[in-house]
Amino acid sequence: MPELPEVETVCVGLAKVLVGMRFAQVEPRRRDLRVPFPPDLAERLMGRSVVSVTRRAKYILMELDGDDMLLLHLGMSGRLTVGPDNGAPPGKHDHLICRFAGGDGPVVMTFTDPRRFGLCDLLPKAVVSQHKLLRGLGVEPLGPELTPAWLGERLRGKTTTIKAALLDQRLIAGLGNIYVCEALFHAGIRPTRRAGLCSQAQIAKLVPAIRKVLRAAIAAGGSSLRDYAHTDGRLGYFQHQFCVYDREGEPCPGCACSLSKTHGIRRVRQGGRSSFYCATKQV
Ligand SMILES: [Zn+2]
Repeated sequence: MPELPEVETVCVGLAKVLVGMRFAQVEPRRRDLRVPFPPDLAERLMGRSVVSVTRRAKYILMELDGDDMLLLHLGMSGRLTVGPDNGAPPGKHDHLICRFAGGDGPVVMTFTDPRRFGLCDLLPKAVVSQHKLLRGLGVEPLGPELTPAWLGERLRGKTTTIKAALLDQRLIAGLGNIYVCEALFHAGIRPTRRAGLCSQAQIAKLVPAIRKVLRAAIAAGGSSLRDYAHTDGRLGYFQHQFCVYDREGEPCPGCACSLSKTHGIRRVRQGGRSSFYCATKQV
């Protein structure tokens, strides 16, 4: 599933190519993904120019000239590719194809989504923040509102685990399983710890740890972007080395735990998802 850094990378990649270009052809190849495409999607997009591409949580907001904003979400398996229009026939899972004119010549953006949990909606700019999927979202993990003092206040008295609290999109928006595991590792907090029992010292480590893991992944994604226009135009998925995520039984990097004593990184199921942690470093 694409997480926030992947979505950020997609936004940067789309913005690089599409800002200033206008929709020249819009071809929905089915009626819906997770929800129906707007019935007048093609008519409303045609001729519009792209002003900016930004991100809110894991939603992609493509601002157009005029009144509308295109809202995209990659869901579980969605992928947006953008590149020169070589006239290749669409693949089985290419559900929305948009061709653009202007700039450096014709470009095609393709929304591919085998599992079809993705989303494409078009809404007036004035109501974007009130959209039912956006209005309840918490603070941005890379934004200025997330501070140790703010988070400490929100976690006080909470009886859920810190893992569950950090995954709660109403508190912090866009954090997913992988980066919560990684941030808790760097902060030395066990994912099963009760949120309200995290010390202020732990929270003071946690906030920069969240930013550090996200920024490192975004930087890795950024470096993967360089070649996109010359290869197959794929954006948004990249290899990244994790410290604990999906590394059960491996030695913990960066701390002096001994594999024979600790049996390496542990895995525990929480809320249907796996958490990974080092029992020596994380308390
Ligand atoms: Zn360790």
